[in-house]
Amino acid sequence: MEPRNQDPNFISLVSDCAATQCKYNESHQCTAGQIKLVFFEGKPECGTYTDEEEDTN
Ligand code: SF4
Repeated sequence: MEPRNQDPNFISLVSDCAATQCKYNESHQCTAGQIKLVFFEGKPECGTYTDEEEDTN
């Protein structure tokens, strides 16, 4: 059995998010469906984050 972090079918859920200004954040729960992780200055961050006040969609 492959370790979870190497299994391409493994899905992890975001159970709690502190970025309450993100348009996908509802009561600390992520509603994006899926997110993209990016690395910024060597640390993982959410690349799907969208400021609800700056979003024009
Ligand atoms: S998209 Fe990213 S920043 Fe926004 S609520 Fe989901 S996990 Fe948090």
